[in-house]
Amino acid sequence: MGPELDKAIAEFPIRSWLEKFTRIYSAGNVIYADCPVCLGKKRLGIYRTSRLGFPIAVCGRCKDGGHNQGRWTGSTTLPSLVRLLEGGSWSQTFKLIHSLSGVSEPPWERPAETKAEKIPKDAFPLSSLQPDAAAIQMLQRRHAAHLISHSYLVIGGKYHERVIFPCNYQGKYTGFEAKGTFPAQDPKSLFGTNMETQQAVYTAVGNRDDCQDLVITESVLDAETFHTLPTNAAGCYGSFKEAQVESIIRLGPARIYWFLDADAWSKLWPAICHLLPFAENYVPPMKGKEDPNSLGPDGCWNYLNESRKIEAELDLIGFGLELGRDL
Ligand SMILES: [Zn+2]
Repeated sequence: MGPELDKAIAEFPIRSWLEKFTRIYSAGNVIYADCPVCLGKKRLGIYRTSRLGFPIAVCGRCKDGGHNQGRWTGSTTLPSLVRLLEGGSWSQTFKLIHSLSGVSEPPWERPAETKAEKIPKDAFPLSSLQPDAAAIQMLQRRHAAHLISHSYLVIGGKYHERVIFPCNYQGKYTGFEAKGTFPAQDPKSLFGTNMETQQAVYTAVGNRDDCQDLVITESVLDAETFHTLPTNAAGCYGSFKEAQVESIIRLGPARIYWFLDADAWSKLWPAICHLLPFAENYVPPMKGKEDPNSLGPDGCWNYLNESRKIEAELDLIGFGLELGRDL
């Protein structure tokens, strides 16, 4: 995603598109309509400019629960609403957004050359594989189908049967993760040689310059699980490291949500201490063996909303007690 997609979303003809699905009542800065999911009269509102800086769709009735048919949480971004109502893949959704808004879609380019190992030359673009290929199925199962157009599969050699995720920090290529296609592959992840995983963090594909909410996770796929949610996400290439503080601050978040795996609870307070001067810090109610990718986008959205603001160590201890955690 880039500035072209932001422009396409900003110029997307919401009214004429939505008319295919439902009745519309007004079309100023906020477009009201009957909700196509729960059929609630005038309950869907699409806010062209939201607090987050991009369009948000909300249905109060779907949000209340019991009416949304399990299809959405009642609140989502414009691209997600387009995908929800149109069906199809993310790349089809983006194609439609570009085509209806008249803003042309930029071609995907391989990341620029750096010291880090380049994408292996014999890697196949995932987009050239059949839809039933194991690598594609793995991404779909892991809530990351949007990465199909950006990722590769290697057959043979050091990265045999691994999916290559190019890794970027704010648009700058830093190397790649080679993720096992099958659960039995060990280790689950390899990284390209000379890849910087101590100071750099992975910045997720859909991150936006104008978003001030940042989720911190432990991996590429954990970070990408937030792709459909109105927040930026970063991955720490394993556990959070003190040396990554600067990479995080430079992303300029106003609010940080610590979605580290549940077993990292004891490392949370030292981590938060580093960021307290720069941003508000929130902790989600992660339990047991949960991680963002196993929770999925809906579970992550719920946890974002249930996150507790942490300003002192006692806040975290209190929250831990409420959650019944071993402290
Ligand atoms: Zn609804």
